Amino acid sequence: MLADGQKHFGRGGSQSLELEAIKLIPGGTNSNFRLPESPPRRYWDHGSGSRLTDVDGNEFIDYILGMGTAVLGHSPPRLLDLVSEAQRSLQCPAGQQPAELGLARKIHSFVPSAERVRVGCTGSEMVQLALRLARAATGRDLVVKFEGHYHGWFDSIFAGTTKLPAPGTHGALPQSAGQLPNALVDLAVLPWNDLGLLEGFVLRHGSDVAAVIMEPVLCNTSVIMPEEGYLEGARRLCDEHGIVLIFDEVITGFRLAQGGAQAVLGVTPDLTVLGKALGAGFPLAALAGKASFMDLIVSGGVMHGGTYNANAMAIAAGLAALEELTDPDGSKYSRLRSLSGALVEGLERLSKDSGGSLNTQAVGPVFNTTFDAPGPITDLRSYQASNIAKQRAFIDALDGNGVRVTSRGTWFVSFAHTDEDVEATLLAADRALREIS
Ligand code: PLP
Repeated sequence: MLADGQKHFGRGGSQSLELEAIKLIPGGTNSNFRLPESPPRRYWDHGSGSRLTDVDGNEFIDYILGMGTAVLGHSPPRLLDLVSEAQRSLQCPAGQQPAELGLARKIHSFVPSAERVRVGCTGSEMVQLALRLARAATGRDLVVKFEGHYHGWFDSIFAGTTKLPAPGTHGALPQSAGQLPNALVDLAVLPWNDLGLLEGFVLRHGSDVAAVIMEPVLCNTSVIMPEEGYLEGARRLCDEHGIVLIFDEVITGFRLAQGGAQAVLGVTPDLTVLGKALGAGFPLAALAGKASFMDLIVSGGVMHGGTYNANAMAIAAGLAALEELTDPDGSKYSRLRSLSGALVEGLERLSKDSGGSLNTQAVGPVFNTTFDAPGPITDLRSYQASNIAKQRAFIDALDGNGVRVTSRGTWFVSFAHTDEDVEATLLAADRALREIS
C-alpha cells in the first residue's frame, strides 16, 4: 500500500507490455470480462494473501480475487505445497487416483444435493453437462434461465446477461457476434424473483421444460437475495411439472457457507454447478447432484469427457481448499461475514458522511457497490438504471488508491483479508469518494 496521499500512477511497465500484447492477443487480454479495466491494463507480478503487486511495484488490496476463486487469498502456502507435492508424483494420468475420491467425499459431505459428483475444469462446461443431463432425464428440450444470471459463455446458454428480451417476452437473444442463434431456440429468459411469473410460464409450457437454472443468490447482477419463498416455490413447481432444478453455485458454493447457498437457504436442487472457490485459484469445477440424474452419465448414455478432468493439481487444490474451508461450527464463515460486514458498514458511513449516493448490497462475504440507484437493486434493469459512469469512476479512483474491485462493482472478501485490510480499504475508499464527488 502507498502512504496516504500517494497515488498509483506508475503503469509504465504495464503500458509497455500492453503495447506489445495488443498486437499479439486480441484486445490485449485473454478474457473479454477483463476489457472494461481502464487502459493500460495492469500486468500482475505476484500475489500473496489479500495483496496483489503489479509489474510497476504497486501493491493492491485485492477484492477481485480471481473473480472469486481465491477464497483463501492469493497463493495460499499450504495449498501450494500440497499441489506441488501432488504434481511431482502424478500430473495428468487420464485415469483414476485416490485423491479424486477424497474430493468427491468432501463435496458429498458439504453440499446437500451432492449424492454424486463429476469434476471438470470450468463452470461453463459443467453447466453444459447439467443441461444435457436435464434433457436426457426429461426427454424435453426447453430450458428456463433468468435475466442477469450468468452461466458461462457457451452458445446454448449465453443470453439475458446484457441484451434482454422485450418486457413480457422471453425469447433469448444472442449476446455475442457469431453465437449460433439456433442454439438459443430452446432457451427462455424470464425476470427472476417473480414466482407468479415463473408459475404462469410453467403452467403454459411446463410439459416442454427440461430445466430451470438459476443462481440461487444472484451475484452476477449486483448481489441479490431471492425473495422469501421464491426458491421453495421454484422447487415446488419443478417437482409438480417434472422439471430439473439446477442451482448454479459457481460463485456462492463454498463462499456463502461450507455448503453454499442451498445449505444457507434450505432448498435443495436436483443438480448443482460448482467452481471458483472449489479450486481456490486452480481450474476446477464440478457438477454435483441427485443420483437419479447423475447416474444417467453412464447408464443413460449421457456423454461427459475432458482431457484435464481430475488432473492431479486441480484435485489436490480442491482437496486442500475444502480441508481449509471445513467449518463444522460455522465460526470460520462467521468471521468472513463479519469482515465483509465491517467493510459494507464503513462504506455506507463514508458515503453518508460525505453526502454521497453510494449504495451497497451484500450477502455474506460478497457485496456490490453502485451509485444513485433509484431504490434497492432487484434485477438487471434496476442495476442498469444506477449511475454506471460514477461506479466506473469510483472503481478507477479505488485503483488509484491501492484497492482492486471488479468492473461491475462486486467485492469478494477472502479468508486472507484482515481487520487491517478493512481499515486501509476504508481510508482508500474515503479518498476515492472525495476524488469523484
Ligand atoms: N456460473 C456462474 C454463476 C459464474 O459466475 C460463472 C463465471 O463467472 C460461470 C458459471 C462460468 O464459469 P467459468 O468462468 O469457470 O467457465
